[in-house]
Amino acid sequence: MERLPELVQHHKDYFYSGQTKSFEFRKKQLKTLRNAIKEYEPEVIQALKDDLHKSEWEAYTTEIGFLLEEIKFTLKHLIEWMNPEKVKSPVTHLGSKSLIHQEPYGVSLIIAPWNYPFQLQLAPLIGAIAAGNCAVLKPSELTPAVSAVIGKMIREIYPHKYISVVEGGVETSTELLKQAFDHIFFTGSVPVGKIVMEAAAKQLIPVTLELGGKSPAIVDKDANLKLAAKRILWGKFTNAGQTCIAPDYLYVHSDVKKVLLLHMQEALQEFYGEDPLTSEVYAHLVSDRHFDRLKGFLSNGDVLIGGQHKADDRVITPTIMENISWDDPVMQEEIFGPILPVLEFTDLNKVIEEVRNQPKPLALYFFSESEQKQDKITSSLSFGGGCMNDTLMHIVSPYLPFGGVGSSGTGSYHGKASFEAFSHQKSIVKQTTKFDFSFRYPSAKNGLKMIKRIMG
Ligand code: NAD
Repeated sequence: MERLPELVQHHKDYFYSGQTKSFEFRKKQLKTLRNAIKEYEPEVIQALKDDLHKSEWEAYTTEIGFLLEEIKFTLKHLIEWMNPEKVKSPVTHLGSKSLIHQEPYGVSLIIAPWNYPFQLQLAPLIGAIAAGNCAVLKPSELTPAVSAVIGKMIREIYPHKYISVVEGGVETSTELLKQAFDHIFFTGSVPVGKIVMEAAAKQLIPVTLELGGKSPAIVDKDANLKLAAKRILWGKFTNAGQTCIAPDYLYVHSDVKKVLLLHMQEALQEFYGEDPLTSEVYAHLVSDRHFDRLKGFLSNGDVLIGGQHKADDRVITPTIMENISWDDPVMQEEIFGPILPVLEFTDLNKVIEEVRNQPKPLALYFFSESEQKQDKITSSLSFGGGCMNDTLMHIVSPYLPFGGVGSSGTGSYHGKASFEAFSHQKSIVKQTTKFDFSFRYPSAKNGLKMIKRIMG
């Protein structure tokens, strides 16, 4: 295996050959990726089953189908995104044209986490290819079956000098972060996000950071409680809670807590049957370490629903807990598993205050029939994105940029935002040579008088 500095240099040489930049090239590579994803579908589904016990339904909807839709959307719009944008020129630029070119960064490093290991590695790659970049992919070491499929598929469809895969754990990632990439796209935890940003800062490499955090779901007393129950639990227990934008905890108005919880009990029965421990549609936890960490939270308060677990299979049933405070360990870090702590409120302003005291969440979900309250939440709290009366759905739309803010991330992607995440906006003034205004030069007589008339 070649050394990393040489690998990056090979990519740079290929990038500077200019071949990755034409529309025809990008279109062809996206179609190749689409065909490969279809061809590898059975292998990907099996690998997701091996690593995370994901059902075929979850594997298709949240990983494979998601990517195919993203490619379809990109192919449809790519030419219009690539065209340099003509913008107005101010009076100071009379006779010139002003253009914004979308320039590929060059060679991007794309580091992925384990929770949607196929999708979160390849969705950014779609943006990288669409924008005309080369890329090095670093899949997660915690999902070895999926990482192996990604490696095999990418090696089969793309020249090594164009897109390459480097498998490995923390040491590999650390070495990669020392290389002279032109852009780093990182998806993962907040603590590792800080490491990535620090490493990038040493070389002033632009970064996109897709991080995590504690995303609240808030249910007010005027909400449609039955739907709120179903939609919150669907968002929470998809992939057994191992979703960056899963509702981390629930704030419910005291007047409706009892009814909401009854609806939640019914919904869980409907989703996963009598015994989620053996359910074929319920995902398992990624490692023994993650299982032990989550099991530890079960003693933080009172378990209302669920709480069963089986270490051999790394599974904890969908669990709802109460009598939890912000001092409990379960509220001190991102849960990232199938445990939903329930907090109560009577005054929405207090909830707003509490959420403001926390790092800015990646997502926020508010359930209420009142447009006024919905607007209040949107305008008074800062968070990456979210939904009113739903969960997760904002991530699925190619028309909505997806990303965090502050500690939940920097930059965004999906749809056009993916293309932009891997592009530098290069501004160009095309100046006329037909005439030249002498007042701009320091030697001009009355130059300043003229300038003051135009500027200010
Ligand atoms: P992680 O930060 O532990 O690992 C992510 C990647 O970073 C892996 O490829 C890993 O090998 C690498 N890595 C780990 N430690 C490193 C280090 N010290 N130096 C350099 N690289 C290192 O995250 P994870 O456990 O794989 O994923 C879970 C986290 O990711 C959660 O916090 C979740 O919210 C977040 N996440 C965010 C999004 C999003 O789109 N915003 C999506 C999925 C997951």
